[in-house]
Amino acid sequence: MRYWAYLGAKLLAAAFALRYVWVGITLLLPVPRLYRNAFLGYDLNWTLAAGLFFLICCGAAYLCVWEQRYRCRVCLRRLRMPIATGSWGQMLQLGRPRVEYICPFGHGTLRVPELQISGIEASDWQRHDDDIWKELVGTEEDRRS
Ligand SMILES: [Zn+2]
Repeated sequence: MRYWAYLGAKLLAAAFALRYVWVGITLLLPVPRLYRNAFLGYDLNWTLAAGLFFLICCGAAYLCVWEQRYRCRVCLRRLRMPIATGSWGQMLQLGRPRVEYICPFGHGTLRVPELQISGIEASDWQRHDDDIWKELVGTEEDRRS
């Protein structure tokens, strides 16, 4: 829930900042007298400014979502330590190529596939146990028995 609330807050902050960009555009461009209410599509400067503003809005929303994908779902910190796993040349032996990112505090692992055979594959978030030493202790106990 916190993860989605953070994304919503980023999108709201971007919308708030972009609102002032639009206010700046309206201050810079003079309003044409003939088409006071319907100048978009009739005046070239306004149409170009609106198109550019639309592209900036789309880019800002894309950046917010793209940056959110590489955040930890628990603590919202940036995921770090990318590791390339798998192999392009030996895919049957070592698996499909992908990049794994981990949370620096051990909350989970994000696996981003690099090979898109049947369309765009979603990245896979796997949450780790709260006890990060459990796996090491379990391995040690298995060796003793
Ligand atoms: Zn984390």
